Amino acid sequence: MATSYKIIEHAYDVIVVGAGGAGLRATFGMAEKGLKTACLTKVFPTRSHTVAAQGGISAALGNMGEDDWRFHMYDTVKGSDWLGDQDAIEYMCREAIPAVIELEHYGVPFSRTAEGKIYQRAFGGMTTHYGKGQAQRTCAAADKTGHAILHTLYQQALKHNAEFFVEYIALDLIMQDGECRGVLAWCLDDGSLHLFKAHQTVLATGGYGRSYFSCTSAHTVTGDGNAMVLRAGLPLQDMEFVQFHPTGIYGSGCLITEGVRGEGGYLTNSQGERFMERYAPSAKDLASRDVVSRAMTIEINEGRGVGKLKDHIYLHIEHLDPAIIHERLPGIAETSKIFAGVDVTKEPIPVLPTVHYNMGGIPTNYKAEVVTLEAGNPDKIVPGLMAIGEAACVSVHGANRLGSNSLLDLIVFGRSAAIRCAELIKPGSSHKPLNKDACDQALTRFDKIRNANGSRSSSDIRLDMQRVMQTKAAVFRTQATLDEGITAMADISASFADVTVKDKSLIWNTDLVETLELDNLLAQANVTINAAGNRKESRGGHAREDYPNRDDANWMKHTLTWLTDGKVSIDYRPVHLYTLSDDVEVIPPKERVY
Ligand SMILES: Cc1cc2nc3c(=O)[nH]c(=O)nc-3n(C[C@H](O)[C@H](O)[C@H](O)COP(=O)(O)OP(=O)(O)OC[C@H]3O[C@@H](n4cnc5c(N)ncnc54)[C@H](O)[C@@H]3O)c2cc1C
Repeated sequence: MATSYKIIEHAYDVIVVGAGGAGLRATFGMAEKGLKTACLTKVFPTRSHTVAAQGGISAALGNMGEDDWRFHMYDTVKGSDWLGDQDAIEYMCREAIPAVIELEHYGVPFSRTAEGKIYQRAFGGMTTHYGKGQAQRTCAAADKTGHAILHTLYQQALKHNAEFFVEYIALDLIMQDGECRGVLAWCLDDGSLHLFKAHQTVLATGGYGRSYFSCTSAHTVTGDGNAMVLRAGLPLQDMEFVQFHPTGIYGSGCLITEGVRGEGGYLTNSQGERFMERYAPSAKDLASRDVVSRAMTIEINEGRGVGKLKDHIYLHIEHLDPAIIHERLPGIAETSKIFAGVDVTKEPIPVLPTVHYNMGGIPTNYKAEVVTLEAGNPDKIVPGLMAIGEAACVSVHGANRLGSNSLLDLIVFGRSAAIRCAELIKPGSSHKPLNKDACDQALTRFDKIRNANGSRSSSDIRLDMQRVMQTKAAVFRTQATLDEGITAMADISASFADVTVKDKSLIWNTDLVETLELDNLLAQANVTINAAGNRKESRGGHAREDYPNRDDANWMKHTLTWLTDGKVSIDYRPVHLYTLSDDVEVIPPKERVY
C-alpha cells in the first residue's frame, strides 16, 4: 500500500535537485545569500555528467583577439536558427563575462596564455563582427573544462555550508494549488523516503540523452526532472530539437570535443576529401554542429563513408604537433586510444554523429522561473518551481546549441536562480501547510513500479525505445519515419505496463532505479517524437527531408507538449523577439548561409 510508507520530513528555503554544473552553481549561490539550501543528487556531485565536458565555456573576454558580447549574442541567435528568446540570449552573453571571471576567482584552473590570461580557443559558429571573422571565445582548462568547473563549484558549495543529500533519488514534485511546495525523494543507502518542503524547488537534473541508442552522455542522464514536470501536468518545450554531435567515437559514442577541430583538426571521407569545404565554404569544419552532422550523414548515405561498412568518417589531428596535443587535448588522445585503439598522433579517429544535447526542456524565463501557458498568457509563472541547465529551455539555444554555450548556460542561469531566490524568499520563513494526501500520487507511482510483476525486463523495453528513437527521430527526418516512430513509441510505452522489477527491496535497489528512470525516458521519448512529427519545417537540429526550408511565417514559435494518460497534446508559445535593454537591437531573421 502506497500510504504505508513512513516519510521523513525536512524544511528548507530552497531545494536544488541535481549537483551538475547548474545545480552546484545555484546551490552555493543560494547558500552564499543566506538561504537554507539543500542539494539532492542521485550520484555523488562530482560524478554528474558535467564532469565529462571537454571543450570549454564561452565568454567574449577578448583575451586572444578582438571580441564583443554583442558578437556572441549574434552568433547564439543565428545558431538557434531564430528560435532562441533574444532577451534571454542577451542576458546570457552579457553576463558571461562577469560569470566566467567569477569562476576564475573561485579557483577554476583555466589554461593560460603567455601573458597569464585565460586561454580561449575557436569553436563552431563563434565569430567576430557578426559572422565576418573567427572568434577565439571558448575558455578552456585543457580538454577537461567540465571537470575543472565541477570540482571548483563543489568546493565552493562546501565552503558556504550548503547541505548535500547524496544518492537520493527525487521521485516527484509535490504540487498543491498550482504551486510547487517541494519534492519527494528516496534514499538509496537506507531505503527511507523523504519529503523536502521548500519555498522554491530548482530542477537541475540535466538532459535525457539516454532515450537514444548512441549518445555521448552518462547512463544517469535520464531527464528525471523533465518527466516530473510532465507528471505535474506542466508542459515541456521544443523537445523535437535534439543535437547530434558530429564526432562521437564510432561504436562507443564517446565524445571527441569540437575543440579538436578548433585546434586545427579536420574531417575526411573515403576519397580523402575534406568535404566540409563543399558544404560550408567559409566555416568549413567549424560550421555549427547541425550543419557538420548533416554533411557527414550525406557523405555516408552517398557511399563515401570510411571503414569496411563505409558507415563512418575520419577525424584527423595527426598533422598537429604532438606537444600541442599533449598540452591541449590529452583527454581525447587517451579516449581515442581506449575506445578506438587509435594513436591520434599517427592515425585518424573514426567518428559518427551521436546524440549529444537536448535543446528542449522545462520552459523558463531568464530568471530561471518555470513558465507555462495559461488562459492565453504564454509566460505564466509556476510559483515555487525553477529549472536550470540542460533540463531547462530558457530558451537560449533555440533549435541548435553552439558548442561551449551549455557550460555557460549552467553558470549564468544557476547564478540567476540564486539571485531570484534571494529576491523572492525571506530566509527561514514558514512553509504553507500541506494537504494530508500531498504525497499520495507520487507514492502510488513509486509503489506500483516497485511491485511490478510483468514479463518484460526494463532493459528490454529500454532497448526497444532507444532503437526507435535512433532510427525514427534521427539526423534526417520525414513524416513517414516519424509517424512510424510515433506509433512504435506508443506501443513501447504501453508495454511498460508489463514490466517486472525482480528486486522488491528498498536499499540500493538498482533494478528499481533503472525502471523509474525508464518510465521517465519513455515520457520524454514520446513527447520528442510527437513534437518532431508535428513541426513541418527544418530548423536547427530538426532537419526534415520533406520540408527542407525554415518556415518563419508558420513555425517561428516554441512547441509546448503535455503528456496526459499516455496522450501527447501540443500548443505553442511565441519566441521572444525583444531584448532587455534599449541599446541592444533585435537580430532579425536571416537566410541560412554557412
Ligand atoms: C561528453 C560531453 C561533453 C560536453 N562538453 C561540453 C563542453 O565542452 N562545453 C559545453 O558548453 N557543454 C558541453 N557539454 C554539454 C554540457 O556538459 C551539459 O549540457 C551540462 O553539463 C549539463 O549540466 P547540468 O548541470 O544541467 O546536468 P548534469 O551535469 O547532467 O547533472 C545532473 C544532476 O542531476 C542529478 N539528478 C538527475 N536526476 C535526479 C534525480 N531523480 N534525483 C536526484 N538527482 C538527480 C544528477 O545526480 C546530477 O547531479 C558536454 C556534454 C557531454 C555529454
